[in-house]
Amino acid sequence: MSTRAVSPAPYTRHVPRALARTAAVVVLTLLAGCTPSVSSAPPDATASGSPTVEAAAPASARPSDIPNPAATPTWPRPGPVDTRTGAELDQPFTVDGVVVVSKAHPVSANYSPPWTAEPQGLNPDAYAAFGRMATDAQADGLRLSIRSGYRDYATQAASFHRALRTYDEETARRYFAEPGKSEHQTGLAFDVWDGVNRGSAFARTPQAAWVAANAHRYGFIVRYPDGKTDITGYAWESWHLRWVGTDIAAQFGPDSSLTLEEYLGLA
Ligand SMILES: [Zn+2]
Repeated sequence: MSTRAVSPAPYTRHVPRALARTAAVVVLTLLAGCTPSVSSAPPDATASGSPTVEAAAPASARPSDIPNPAATPTWPRPGPVDTRTGAELDQPFTVDGVVVVSKAHPVSANYSPPWTAEPQGLNPDAYAAFGRMATDAQADGLRLSIRSGYRDYATQAASFHRALRTYDEETARRYFAEPGKSEHQTGLAFDVWDGVNRGSAFARTPQAAWVAANAHRYGFIVRYPDGKTDITGYAWESWHLRWVGTDIAAQFGPDSSLTLEEYLGLA
């Protein structure tokens, strides 16, 4: 685990937002049965952070973490908007230096990361971290290896079109990325298995449970958590790990259902 101090800012930015939304709904619901003069207030007066909403901040939050409506009138602050077009798609979208490649944030066929010649085509830090993770899993009696690492655009295209021929389109699109929309093209993500069970079968292995509980300690997140298809665009994939580094992964924690989109303010 990292011994460096971890900034809670992105996580606490996420939590109050959800609470604020809930509080806003409650306030608006209460107002609905109130006097006409109150209910005629513009909806955004409460949604953007009235004193009532501000009071909904968790008691554990430090004063500096509680949004000041006067200083941040647009709270909850939306994440950055991806405005890339044309040749700009030759580089991935990033938020605070974190690469995001997804259905909403594609890259072109021209993009390849600088570490494609490394083992599995993976970022060397990610690969080294996986080595430590696999060693520790082995100590717990669990074999863990990489089944698929970096995939270039053409390889992904072949995989996607094969899936379209094999499954119905809806299923294919939930489990397989179109070329340019796969994290595998970044060399920051990979699929693990136990050497026998892959895909949905892997989800039922002790390895999958171990990975869910421990991956964050090595700098990985389970990128497509269960129940978050509406946000990620992909089905739950217990086997697909994304390198984000230990500082960020620590904020996801064990058995996390947080998505990178939520963490970065994109959802
Ligand atoms: Zn994958």
